[in-house]
Amino acid sequence: GFKMGIVGLPNVGKSTLFNALTRTAAAQAANFPFCTIEPNVGEVNVPDARLDTLARIAGSASIIPTRMTFVDIAGLVKGASKGEGLGNQFLANIREVDAIAHVLRCFEDGDVTHVEGRVDPVADAEVIETELMLADLESIEKRRAGLVRKLKGGDKEAAQQERLLAAAQAVLEDGQPARVVDVSDEDRKAWKGLQLLTTKPILYVCNVDEGSAASGNAFSAQVEAMAAEQGAASVVISARIEEEISQLDAEEAEMFLDEMGLAEAGLDRLIRAGYELLHLETYFTVGPKEARAWTIPTGTPAPKAAGVIHGDFEKGFIRAETIAYDDFVACNGEQGAKEAGKMRAEGKAYVVKDGDVLHFLFNT
Ligand code: GDP
Repeated sequence: GFKMGIVGLPNVGKSTLFNALTRTAAAQAANFPFCTIEPNVGEVNVPDARLDTLARIAGSASIIPTRMTFVDIAGLVKGASKGEGLGNQFLANIREVDAIAHVLRCFEDGDVTHVEGRVDPVADAEVIETELMLADLESIEKRRAGLVRKLKGGDKEAAQQERLLAAAQAVLEDGQPARVVDVSDEDRKAWKGLQLLTTKPILYVCNVDEGSAASGNAFSAQVEAMAAEQGAASVVISARIEEEISQLDAEEAEMFLDEMGLAEAGLDRLIRAGYELLHLETYFTVGPKEARAWTIPTGTPAPKAAGVIHGDFEKGFIRAETIAYDDFVACNGEQGAKEAGKMRAEGKAYVVKDGDVLHFLFNT
């Protein structure tokens, strides 16, 4: 599955947000009783109204949304890259995630201490980014030193790593994150394999005061400007409000959102933003038993998409029967789509599209 790491300075609202994410009714789908895997790891449903529509049309007995994992990564402070405090563990945790949700304090509250003694989300973002860049530099130097012998032996893989590490080091020494490096398609896999912290895509989460949840505030506007400049994503949320909502049932939550002038829960927006940030798409399998959503990276060919359900589906893949979501709805289901000629048979080369309703045919 795909993992987002929640990072940020102490006291910015990470735990509040994480708890809201994992305690919310939606996170605790009956099919997944162990929603909190570890104290700091939780799985959440990816909200998608299309799934409910499909289930209604097909009369599916159950609905199973696709899931995303969040990891609360506490312990980042100035100096973390030098391994002070929880620093090392923290950095190891970040290496394992696919993307970073960087929580920034955009609320003022005299009762909640700010580690730097002032509210300045853009400066906070820089503190963290600097630690991550320093950590990358240190690990690059170590790794390049470790490659010397292999390079002398003419190892091709080592040569590629050396070239990529040198490119990353150059931009980092210039004060920029490694994600600004232009990577060719041939190098992409090896580049990702380096697991540099500053190559992870970032979603800035502006944690605003309760009164600013709907429209944001001056602090969150600064963050949005910064995010736009960096080509990063951002979302405005009030962790306090989300915490309250997570304790309500669906109907109460709806009323509460209405009162606050919010169209949907911030957590839903956050989860979806993460999904977009990671360039993920959804396809569906729909039948009388269940309607289910599955996650794939954009551009996934049909056999690989089938493999998300089961390895045997990929190995024995013959073809996929495909109905686009809009066709499924317009034709009022599979039978109607078939009759209207909207069900297509697709082979191994077919690239699955977001919203496809699929059946896989395979050899066992
Ligand atoms: P963490 O250290 O980043 O995990 O931060 P916590 O989630 O533990 O929050 C630190 C403190 O800030 C707690 O007392 C929270 O109740 C408080 N807090 C979190 N979000 C908000 C908010 O939006 N507004 C206000 N006023 N306090 C908040």
